[in-house]
Amino acid sequence: MKYDYDLLVIGAGSGGVRAARIAAGYGKRVAICEGDKVGGTCVIRGCVPKKLFVYASQYSKMFKAAKTFGWDIQSQFNWPELLQNKDAEINRLNGIYLNLLANAGVELIRGFGTFVDAHNIKIAEKTYSAERILIATGGSPTVPDIPGKEHVITSNEALDLPQLPASITINGGGYIAVEFACIFNALGVKVNLVYRGPQILRTFDSEIAAFAQQSFIDAGINVFTDTSISAVEKTEAGLVCKSNQADITSDVVFFATGRQANTERLNLTKVGIATQANGQVVVDEEQRTSLEHVFAVGDVSNQDNLTPVAIREGHYLVDRLYAGGEQYPDYDFIPTTVFCQPEIGTCGLTEDEARAQHANIKTYTSTFRAMKYAMSDVNEKTLMKIVVNEDTDQVLGMHVCGADGGEMIQGFGVALKQGLTKTQLNSTIGIHPTSAEEFVTL
Ligand code: NDP
Repeated sequence: MKYDYDLLVIGAGSGGVRAARIAAGYGKRVAICEGDKVGGTCVIRGCVPKKLFVYASQYSKMFKAAKTFGWDIQSQFNWPELLQNKDAEINRLNGIYLNLLANAGVELIRGFGTFVDAHNIKIAEKTYSAERILIATGGSPTVPDIPGKEHVITSNEALDLPQLPASITINGGGYIAVEFACIFNALGVKVNLVYRGPQILRTFDSEIAAFAQQSFIDAGINVFTDTSISAVEKTEAGLVCKSNQADITSDVVFFATGRQANTERLNLTKVGIATQANGQVVVDEEQRTSLEHVFAVGDVSNQDNLTPVAIREGHYLVDRLYAGGEQYPDYDFIPTTVFCQPEIGTCGLTEDEARAQHANIKTYTSTFRAMKYAMSDVNEKTLMKIVVNEDTDQVLGMHVCGADGGEMIQGFGVALKQGLTKTQLNSTIGIHPTSAEEFVTL
C-alpha cells in the first residue's frame, strides 16, 4: 500500500471525529491525531461546559419564582462543586468520544499534526502518510494586542476559574460575551459588559438585540456601549480597564473578542494551502483546500462556525469521498441560539437583511411576560418577531428573545427551510398555554 492511511484527520473535535468514524465505517484505514483531550472545543471548553453553567445560573431565577408557587427554598451556591461536576461530565463525554473512535476502528494518534509535505504528517516525532488529509483543528480565542493583555482571561479560563469572582468585566458583544455575562450575573457576580459599538449582538436582528441589551440591564448587568478598552492595569483595587469612556475596575477581566483558526502549527504555507487574512483555511463547496487531496471542516475553515455545521460538513464529505454520497451542507436557514438570559433563538434573515433583499417586508412582533414568571417578581419578558416577504407571503426570518428561545426555533427552523408561508404558519393550531404559540397567532 502506498500510504499508511486512506484518511488522516488532524484534530479530534466534533467535525473531525464524525468524519473519521464514518470513513472507518466504510472500511477505510483511518487515523485521527489530537494533541489535547478528544472532543474539541464544543465538548471540552465550549458549548457543553458553557451550557452546564447556563443551567447552573438559571436556578437563581427559578428559586426566586419558586416562592410564588408555594416553595420555600433556602439556597446556597457552591462554585467548586459545579466545577467538579462539570469536569466529571466532560470526562464522561470524552470517554464516549474515545469509545466511538475505537469501536469504529479509527486509530488515535496522540499529538499535534504538522505537514511535512503534501501527503506526510509529523505527529509527536513520527511521520505518517495518508492518501487524503482532513484538517479539523478548530479555533481558539483571540485577545487584541493591548497593554496588560497578560491580565486578561478568555472563555477557556472562564470555565475553570478557581473561585467565583465578586466582579468581572467582559469585553465583547457577541455570543460568548453575552452568554458569560448572563451566567456570572445570575450567579451573583457584579458584571460589566463592555462593547465597542452602540448596541451589542451586532449581527442579530437589531430589535431583538436592543431588547436583549435592555433585558440584561434590567437584570443588573452594567452595559457600557461605545466603549473601547485600550489597556488593562493591575492595581491594589483590582484590574482596571482603561477605556475611552471610564476606568472600569473588577476582579477579573475576560475578553470575548472573537476566535481565530488553529492553523499556526500545521505548516500550511510549506505545502501551499491557502488561508484567509484571519487564518481560516479557504475551502470550496467540496470542503477542498487548495490541495486536491486535502480538505477542511469546521471552525478552521471559512464557513459558519457552529458545531452542527462542522459535523454535517465532515459527514457529507466522507459520504461523498467513500460512499457515492451526493449531499452538500446547505448554509441557508441555519437556526442558532445565544444562550443568554433571556435566550435568543433565531433562524433566517434579520429585518435589515430582508429589507436589503426584498421590496415589501412586513414584520410581526409580540412582547409579553411568560406565564411561569407572571406571579413572581422576575420581570423577564419575551419578544417574538417574524419577518415576512409580503409579495410572496414567505416567512424569511423568525426571532425570539425569551425563555427556551432555542428550543422553539429548532422546530420552526424545519418549516422555514421548507419555504414556510405566513398563511401556513397561521393555519397551524397553537399549543396552549405556551410561549411558542404566539408564533402561529401573530
Ligand atoms: P463573535 O464574533 O460572536 O463576537 C466577537 C465580539 O467581539 C463582537 O462583539 C466584536 O465586535 C468584538 N470584538 C472583536 N474584536 C474586538 C476588539 N479588537 N476590541 C473589542 N471588541 C472586539 O465572537 P465570539 O468570540 O463571541 O464567538 C465566536 C464564534 O463562536 C461565534 O461567532 C459563533 O460562531 C461561535 N459560538 C457559538 C455559540 C452558540 O452557538 N451558542 C456560543 C459561542 C460561540 P463587533 O460586533 O463590533 O465586530
